Amino acid sequence: MFSRTRTTALKSNSFARNLLRLYSQAPLRVPITLPNGLTYEQPTGLFINGEFVASKQKKTFDVINPSTEEKITTVYKAMEDDVDTAVAAAKKAFETKWSIAEPEDRARALFNLADLVEKNQETLAAIESMDNGKSLFCSRGDVALVSKYLRSCGGWADKLNGNVIDTGKDHFTYSIKEPLGVCGQIIPWNFPLLMWSWKIGPALATGNTVVLKPAETTPLSALFASQLCQEAGIPAGVVNILPGSGRVVGERLSAHPDVKKIAFTGSTATGRHIMKVAADTVKKVTLELGGKSPNIVFADADLDKAVKNIAFGIFFNSGEVCCAGSRIYIQDTVYEEVLKKLKEYTETLKVGDPFNEKVFQGAQTSDKQLHKILDYVNVAKSEGARLVTGGERYGDKGYFVKPTIFADVKEDMRIVKEEVFGPIVTVSKFSTVDEVIAMANDSQYGLAAGIHTNDINKAINVSNRVKAGTVWVNTYNNFHQNVPFGGFGQSGIGREMGDAALSNYTQVKSVRIAIDKPIR
Ligand code: NAD
Repeated sequence: MFSRTRTTALKSNSFARNLLRLYSQAPLRVPITLPNGLTYEQPTGLFINGEFVASKQKKTFDVINPSTEEKITTVYKAMEDDVDTAVAAAKKAFETKWSIAEPEDRARALFNLADLVEKNQETLAAIESMDNGKSLFCSRGDVALVSKYLRSCGGWADKLNGNVIDTGKDHFTYSIKEPLGVCGQIIPWNFPLLMWSWKIGPALATGNTVVLKPAETTPLSALFASQLCQEAGIPAGVVNILPGSGRVVGERLSAHPDVKKIAFTGSTATGRHIMKVAADTVKKVTLELGGKSPNIVFADADLDKAVKNIAFGIFFNSGEVCCAGSRIYIQDTVYEEVLKKLKEYTETLKVGDPFNEKVFQGAQTSDKQLHKILDYVNVAKSEGARLVTGGERYGDKGYFVKPTIFADVKEDMRIVKEEVFGPIVTVSKFSTVDEVIAMANDSQYGLAAGIHTNDINKAINVSNRVKAGTVWVNTYNNFHQNVPFGGFGQSGIGREMGDAALSNYTQVKSVRIAIDKPIR
């Protein structure tokens, strides 16, 4: 038991600590030298109504470099009261500025933003590699797609036409597309900047305003890019960025009565939960969720090309890709040959420091993810899968995992059924088209599929029969800003990119005008 004096002293200490927390302010910007020597100023505040601010409760969290396990910086952590302030700012900006802006002004702002992303591409790519752990090769690809996509969204901003509907001579009837209002956007850590653009691009093009929550582990690129929004001429309050936890910020956004739509990318379990929370206020919900995508190699394919594609399909971005081709199916007549080539090719992929220009695969994003992946290696081994290569940590500092192949798996094994979200692939054998289609479709997910064949009829027939939102033929993880992306089944609801993304952010209004009988 504490004595009375000791208890009072403790109370006053914690009172003093709280006072200190409330009145001492962590900086809102810090100078950072990136691992490649570039220097820049990193905003560390919440971005609300065009300003970087401390969170009301002055809470902060540390951001860790996954390649070195060292702290990069500390950023402010939003809480419920900050969400309410940001939503109010976004609501005001929606009503007074952005929803009534000329479409061509919205277009120009998005074009400017695309140009600014291009101008800052090396800094943005390096921030992403430092914060997420992905190789520069991967982050440069992300940043290139970000600028292309924002430009494409700018192109849509003044082409959101409605329809004139023929309802006879007595009425003039038309429909128009209107924005929804404030959109809550919750993004994951695997493609932080790319997901920021996939979310804000279509929302802004269609006249909405946003409050976006980056993932806890990777808040830096979204904060840096929010200042580019201002420079691009996007008015204060249109884009608000709130680093913070899913359980607090994500939950409040999903429940907030003034948030009219939630767009989420992440795990299926969290997506399911968000849908339930959003149901109380009947929000529109779009979800980009998990996957366990099949990647099929037919015997008639160009096998050397197929091997490179299936390796890229799983090991790109350290395997932290929702549509990763994590289940490889090889036709029996070429099974051993392709497996041997795949092993040899995989072992040439350089793992390590994301800033080494020769590195293909960087670090996993977090300690949690590293251990999840290593646990799955043990699961696969205990289920009797044959380890072909990898299966262990690379080095002893940083969250690196060797690219890993498990062969001769059975379709009911957990390693075949569950999303690992790391550089682990399973390889199975098939003999007929019907057999491989049954195996490919035996999943709760349906995000993507790969087909490798030189037979155009087979390519089209199999594409028609696989249950997936995207099918890649003789390629994989091949994205384009104009091509819709999203999932069947438990891989999600709605599509991102292309014209399909616009319907996520608009609602149709029909207007029917009675016409007086013509005067003759
Ligand atoms: P998660 O789905 O929980 O996190 C994604 C985002 O959702 C983060 O911003 C997080 O803060 C937020 N979030 C978490 N709980 C929330 C809640 N209750 N309400 C609102 N938002 C919430 O994923 P995770 O925990 O970071 O990773 C777990 C697994 O999810 C991974 O191992 C991987 O398998 C999968 N994952 C998939 C994707 C994808 O793109 N499909 C992305 C990230 C993770």
